[in-house]
Amino acid sequence: MYAHHLYDQPEQSPAYENRKETGLTSRIIIVGAGIAGLSLAQWLTRFGIEFEIIEQSPSERRSPHGIVLPFNAVRELKMLGVFEQLQEEYFDFWKLTYCGIGGKEIKSAILTQSPFENEQFIAVREQRLLTALRTGLEKKIRYNTRLTDVDHGEDGVRISCTNELLNGQYDLIVAADGTRSQTRLKNFEGQITVQDHHIPCWRVLLEYPEHGLQPMHMIGPVSQFVIYPVSNDTLYCYAHVHEAPDGEHVADGAMLEEKGRLSPDPKENLRRIFARYGGPVPEILSRLGDAAIIPDRLQSVTEPCFFDRRIAFIGDAAHGCSPLIQQGAAMALADSRCLADALAMQQTDQALTTYRERREAQTQRIARASDAPLDSVLTGPGGMKQLFYSLKLRLFGPDNVRAWRRIATERPFQSANKSPGS
Ligand SMILES: Cc1cc2nc3c(=O)[nH]c(=O)nc-3n(C[C@H](O)[C@H](O)[C@H](O)COP(=O)(O)OP(=O)(O)OC[C@H]3O[C@@H](n4cnc5c(N)ncnc54)[C@H](O)[C@@H]3O)c2cc1C
Repeated sequence: MYAHHLYDQPEQSPAYENRKETGLTSRIIIVGAGIAGLSLAQWLTRFGIEFEIIEQSPSERRSPHGIVLPFNAVRELKMLGVFEQLQEEYFDFWKLTYCGIGGKEIKSAILTQSPFENEQFIAVREQRLLTALRTGLEKKIRYNTRLTDVDHGEDGVRISCTNELLNGQYDLIVAADGTRSQTRLKNFEGQITVQDHHIPCWRVLLEYPEHGLQPMHMIGPVSQFVIYPVSNDTLYCYAHVHEAPDGEHVADGAMLEEKGRLSPDPKENLRRIFARYGGPVPEILSRLGDAAIIPDRLQSVTEPCFFDRRIAFIGDAAHGCSPLIQQGAAMALADSRCLADALAMQQTDQALTTYRERREAQTQRIARASDAPLDSVLTGPGGMKQLFYSLKLRLFGPDNVRAWRRIATERPFQSANKSPGS
């Protein structure tokens, strides 16, 4: 169904022909070589559109955690011709279960039934995904180069970055620099564009030979522990806890006097906060050993933003939100395809309007659906909130699967530049 590579040579793409005929040439710089920046770079390359790409990390970013890619992210990777580059180093899943903190199932969902009959859901090491997305771009990415400032001019935008050779005027800057985007910060200086949800979180990849597990979300009143295999011998775990207004944390099931502040040691935090979890969690916590645990905080962009004059925003820089329905990668990949498609066919200003028109409604819906579960701190008089949540889960199914179903039944954005094999 999908072509392995969209076009072996950019010259074969109708977009390339179109740009040649209409003289659409422009100086483009992409800021950030994460999922959004790399996928845009891949599409632009296929369309024969020149660009620079900078990345602040000193070399290929190391990403020692996993990522869950539901069907729409997998579809995008297949359209981009990158899926095969994963070389089957991922875990296909077809079922996921929501449980209480004791490990007792509340509700499970089977992902082989309508509307997902022909779809694929995977969990993968993020490093593997980034390596696949970098294929062919290795020499193009300017590492150790951080954007420091932007300045709009008459007919373009000037950038300052830590590589003087790249400073100067561009027709278009594409900010693909994540939720805490420096480009967005500089562009909207003085405005608050990121909201902190007061939820510290942790991600870890764990060797666990023959774990025999399928994906599992364990939901407590103020915390969650989420497990996805990335192979038969490795688990990716994501965990979070709601911070009380006084900055302290109460572990689910713990006595109030056990609340405390986070330790600088992520392992200690996981062991303390999830001490009363059952199911596979005690065994997982006992295996943490030297695993690299990546601490973070859940943050969202306050208002999705697609472009301002000649700065385009894609991926998390445009609409970063909570990962609870696992749509970040899919949205970043779809943004890139859409923006590249528009740039291939239209003058820059028109292309930016087209990009926003095609992406705005879906990304706003998804950002809302992603952040909605964050309000559900499930404590309340007599545990009513938790009871109500369990009932909702039983009746309507897991939050993420409900959102995926809605996405699967929406009409996806169609590229004007069709892949020959699609
Ligand atoms: C805890 C957590 C769990 C998640 N789990 C999932 C999941 O399971 N599934 C899913 O689909 N999504 C998940 N997401 C979201 C997903 O990771 C993002 O949506 C996705 O990575 C978007 O990528 P991006 O390229 O827009 O941004 P990023 O991945 O943040 O990449 C931005 C890049 O820009 C670079 N950069 C930043 N500033 C500068 C600068 N000034 N100059 C140059 N370079 C710069 C950074 O080094 C980085 O390489 C999760 C997010 C979090 C926080």
